[in-house]
Amino acid sequence: MHDETRLLHCDSDDEPFRALTTPVHRASTLVFPTVEEFLARHSRFYDGYSYGLYGHPASRSLAKQIATLEGGSRALIVPSGMAAISVVNLALLRPGDHVLIPDAVYAPARAAAEGFLSAMGVTSTFYNSLAGVGIAELFRSTTRLVWVESPASFTMEVQDVPAITAAAHDHGALVAADCTWASPLGFKALRHGADVAVQALSKHIAGHSDLILGSVTVDDETLFRRIKDASRYLGLGVSPDDCFLAQRGLGTLSTRLGRQTESAVKVAGILAEHPCVKQVLYPPLPGDPGHVLWCRDFTGASGVFSVVLEPSGDTALAPFLEQMRLFRLGASWGGLHSLVAPARLDGARSAVPWQGAGPVLRFSIGLEHPDDLIDDLLAGLERYRPPNRAASI
Ligand SMILES: *Cc1c(COP(=O)(O)O)cnc(C)c1O
Repeated sequence: MHDETRLLHCDSDDEPFRALTTPVHRASTLVFPTVEEFLARHSRFYDGYSYGLYGHPASRSLAKQIATLEGGSRALIVPSGMAAISVVNLALLRPGDHVLIPDAVYAPARAAAEGFLSAMGVTSTFYNSLAGVGIAELFRSTTRLVWVESPASFTMEVQDVPAITAAAHDHGALVAADCTWASPLGFKALRHGADVAVQALSKHIAGHSDLILGSVTVDDETLFRRIKDASRYLGLGVSPDDCFLAQRGLGTLSTRLGRQTESAVKVAGILAEHPCVKQVLYPPLPGDPGHVLWCRDFTGASGVFSVVLEPSGDTALAPFLEQMRLFRLGASWGGLHSLVAPARLDGARSAVPWQGAGPVLRFSIGLEHPDDLIDDLLAGLERYRPPNRAASI
């Protein structure tokens, strides 16, 4: 069966109310007919229902659909993408362990390693996101986990995930992958050797900028139980309403991503020609440093890309971005509305310092007509005046 079909068919059986959608049961307490079943309720923890915190029909149905799309056997829905990252770290790492994290990782994940895992006695090494097989020299006897994030947040480095997972497995380490950018439609991390696939469902899958959820998918029952246990110790529960909305988002995921990618290729292509733009970072564009790996490993993309602008004074960005008519200034991405987010990357990297001199902007292309977006951007760039622009035109 194709993913497009899988997106529309959830596993819902709520006899006799048979619907195409999964029912939303709001409940903390579940009730039991016998003392014996009540006392044995914990045996239902991994599969059945025992208490609202541990799962309900909407979370289980969404988890099943995500597991299938990721090519795994088991998924867990958690309150956010960041919770997905942290529950994996807390389930798989112990004091004294070492973890390898890509240098261009999602910034809050770096902060969690530096500010939280370190206090637990877990050591992190941030490795060059483009290391590929070269990562082998960074393993220690205590390395238990390697993260990949591909393409990377903001700067879109595409990682050689098969090479990195092979090196990790040679050294007895597990690999966790955050491949939210392409969604499972564009990249199934488990099929490329990862042991754990994380998604920020808040982005493309929810797709409407109106909820926060994350998922963790594996293809191994023991690993699933370790992660599910950690989520229980942390008390991570999810709202059935949010799960319902995320599942509704799945139904249009393929259509949205297709349209957003098509528009993004068009918008990014125009920006690449603009004298204020130094570089466009978007793996689907031929000429992008990650294009060859992207063609090899990915079956799709999304409408999220970044540009490095020609340097200018500190005050040049505000008139550009604050007066946009369609692009709104905001974090996150993957919704219906186009967004732009500026970043300061000086000092953000430790393995390979960021070299770009100008500001970096990340765009999330929404469902507006691409020509309107291009008009908005070209007008914005008129307000952005790098000092050397006159010479370069
Ligand atoms: C947004 C994001 C997350 C975190 O997701 P939240 O649901 O916002 O916590 C994790 N990884 C990547 C790559 C992201 O873009």
